[in-house]
Amino acid sequence: MMVTVNENYLLLKSSYIFSEINRRVEEFQTRNPDADIIRMGIGDVTRPLPGAVVEAFHRAVDEMAGEETFRGYGPEQGYPFLREAIAENDYASRGVDVTPDEIFISDGAKCDTGNIQEIFGLDNVVAVTDPVYPVYVESNVMAGRTGPMDESGRYEGLVYLPCTEENDFIPPLPEEKVDLIYLCYPNNPTGTALTHKQLAEWVDYARDAGGIILFDAAYEAYIQEDNIPHSIYEIEGAREVAVEFRSFSKNAGFTGTRCAFTVVPEELEVPDSEGKMHALKDLWNRRQTTKFNGVSYPVQRAAEAVYTPEGQREIRESIDYYMENAKIIRESLEKAGLRYYGGVNAPYIWIRTPEGMDSWQFFDRLLNDAEVVGTPGVGFGPSGEGYFRLTAFNSLKNTVRAMERLSELSF
Ligand code: PLP
Repeated sequence: MMVTVNENYLLLKSSYIFSEINRRVEEFQTRNPDADIIRMGIGDVTRPLPGAVVEAFHRAVDEMAGEETFRGYGPEQGYPFLREAIAENDYASRGVDVTPDEIFISDGAKCDTGNIQEIFGLDNVVAVTDPVYPVYVESNVMAGRTGPMDESGRYEGLVYLPCTEENDFIPPLPEEKVDLIYLCYPNNPTGTALTHKQLAEWVDYARDAGGIILFDAAYEAYIQEDNIPHSIYEIEGAREVAVEFRSFSKNAGFTGTRCAFTVVPEELEVPDSEGKMHALKDLWNRRQTTKFNGVSYPVQRAAEAVYTPEGQREIRESIDYYMENAKIIRESLEKAGLRYYGGVNAPYIWIRTPEGMDSWQFFDRLLNDAEVVGTPGVGFGPSGEGYFRLTAFNSLKNTVRAMERLSELSF
């Protein structure tokens, strides 16, 4: 007998992109000790927690210090006060019917989007957009739903849906039969969004093909245009075919505080190998109650405060701040003669690298000539080659400075 590892993990390619970015930045900084590098590659928020959130957080911590008000383990699914606030403010207010009972509070959309695959059989065919948030791909690699990665950077057995300039970044319906489809809109990394009509095509497809859509709406709060759905459940028939992931990370600055939620509608049922139907909500509940013990009480009180009038006003202010950065970036790219996408309903701007320059060559050009760091698109999947991501998560001052430098370059 010998201990062995889960060999699926050995199929994972090391996350080369961010270590390679750091390597190149450090090397540049060593050669140019006076360089004033501005980082625009990071997908983390920069503004502090809203005051209303901090106040509620403090109050709840004080409750934990009192003998009468102390709380131990909470309900695994989350406290009713938070689930009710979400159902009311994120859904009922938009005319969408989601009950508190269908909402599962968690410590992040990363965990939830990574864990959800556990409740599906290993023989399901998985489709992802390309480029993609890597968690969807790698969690399925770890579970054993793929073969190795090929030369082109695609894992064998996964279906890649290329989203490029040629199709306006609208994922094409798969040609083969797929079972699980990960969609993220507004999208990381491309910053593009799907209209009501475009998302409805996917819901119809899933209903016809018997597939399930795993819809990541982590950037919902950045939507500015009226024809973009905030929830997949705004689409008729979605309750039978879609799970939705949301997070307090990007709307209220909870990246370091940790709170998110997943919606699994009552109607969502999937058959076993004998054709007997099972409610996904019950399976997800079973998974969570076994492997997760809930989000801390103070954090859930902090998240609840996001929905107070003061909290809403403050998060709107932060989002407007980031979207002003996005606008400055878009205008500067326009002046520099670069083609770009996104940045209207999302904090990400996806630049088409100039003719003859790949993602890394463009990275080097910006680093060397503007001392600005972004993320090479190829790091998000093979179809990201020839693209480059900038984020609006920065101070206004740094965004303006970075863009002034970029406008002086010619492409
Ligand atoms: N989903 C997408 C598409 C993201 O880009 C991110 C974070 O960058 C997450 C989920 C993670 O969210 P959380 O902080 O709630 O884990």
